[in-house]
Amino acid sequence: MANSAEDQEHPVEAFGWAATQPKGLLSPFNFSRRATGDHDVRFKVLYCGICHSDLHAVNNDWGLSLYPIVPGHEVVGEVTEVGKEVKKVKVGDKVGVGCMIGACHACDDCNNDLENYCPGMILTYSSTYHDGTVTHGGYSDHMVAHHRYVVLFPDTMPLHAGAPLLCAGITVYSPLKYYGLAEPGKHVGVVGLGGLGHLAVKFARALGAKVTVISTSHSKQDEALHRLGAHSFLLSSDQHQMQEATGTMDGIIDTVSAVHSLSPLIKLLKSHGKLVMVGAPEKPFELLVFPDLAMGRKMVGGSAIGGMKETQEMIDFAAKHNVTADVEVIPMDYVNTAMERLARADVRYRFVIDIGNSLAATKL
Ligand code: NAP
Ligand code: ZN
Ligand code: ZN
Repeated sequence: MANSAEDQEHPVEAFGWAATQPKGLLSPFNFSRRATGDHDVRFKVLYCGICHSDLHAVNNDWGLSLYPIVPGHEVVGEVTEVGKEVKKVKVGDKVGVGCMIGACHACDDCNNDLENYCPGMILTYSSTYHDGTVTHGGYSDHMVAHHRYVVLFPDTMPLHAGAPLLCAGITVYSPLKYYGLAEPGKHVGVVGLGGLGHLAVKFARALGAKVTVISTSHSKQDEALHRLGAHSFLLSSDQHQMQEATGTMDGIIDTVSAVHSLSPLIKLLKSHGKLVMVGAPEKPFELLVFPDLAMGRKMVGGSAIGGMKETQEMIDFAAKHNVTADVEVIPMDYVNTAMERLARADVRYRFVIDIGNSLAATKL
């Protein structure tokens, strides 16, 4: 798992964009990555999505960020080198890396393909790797990762529109499956129509469920219904609409990035319905047990990304069912404006940085 001392002695120059302090702007940054170890895959980054978690991390919302921080965990590109023990990909293959690049590989979670819940899970950026170095993400020219954390992109999957599947996609696919929310005959609500939310709508539909979007933005109604495939739309501020939908949903995926009231959402659930929280605001929520949860034996749960086996399954499912993200492709030097726009939910529905064509021009 760890790389040899020799690998660490021969680091490879790398270039990306980093924030050097909490809430700081991103700017060009030189750093280094380890040499390709026996179990590693090295790839040239072509595209990288901008997740709201990148913004939380740059701002140090969770108090866990290590600076300088090179964000980016929806990373796709082309393999340039593989270690001698790597069988699953070869030079020239299109691959991706999502939110994690390491785990202990010995605990119950790792043994059950749930590396995402391993206590030793290592995040793609702003984490400490096995060799003691700080990890850096995909707003950079190349990546190197242990092959277990590398996903193979099917030929039919466009790289720019497929990149957001690596975090946003798996984060909604995994709970839709695990909690059994998106099956034929089920009615699922999706709260927050952003990067995660719009993919939740597409996956829930592809899995056969009836889908209702619950949004604060009236302006997203047309697209939700006519482009993304939702069956109905609720404006969360419209009490009449919310009242009418009381007790109609089997489950809800809540993707909102800020604290908000849960009571109106729990009321939408049928008895035994499940509200699954995937948004990650830094502050706690208020939860009213009686009557909200107790009446109807309702549940509130959580979920974080997905294991690597399920991530590959999700990518293959997406390729088969034509599920990709709606993206706004931007050059590297637009990233600070994109972050500002993301903070005010002004993106339809994911920014993706064209690293391959725009990063080199910003080199120091
Ligand atoms: P995003 O693109 O910004 O989407 C969030 C959506 O939430 C917005 O488009 C907006 O939708 C709604 N919203 C924003 N602020 C709101 C507020 N104050 N009140 C009500 N609704 C609000 O973000 P994202 O990339 O999808 O990420 C969403 C959250 O999931 C973030 O907190 C992120 O860190 C977290 N996340 C968690 C995981 C995990 O593993 N659990 C993985 C990835 C991301 P409307 O305009 O439709 O209301
Ligand atoms: Zn993410
Ligand atoms: Zn483990």
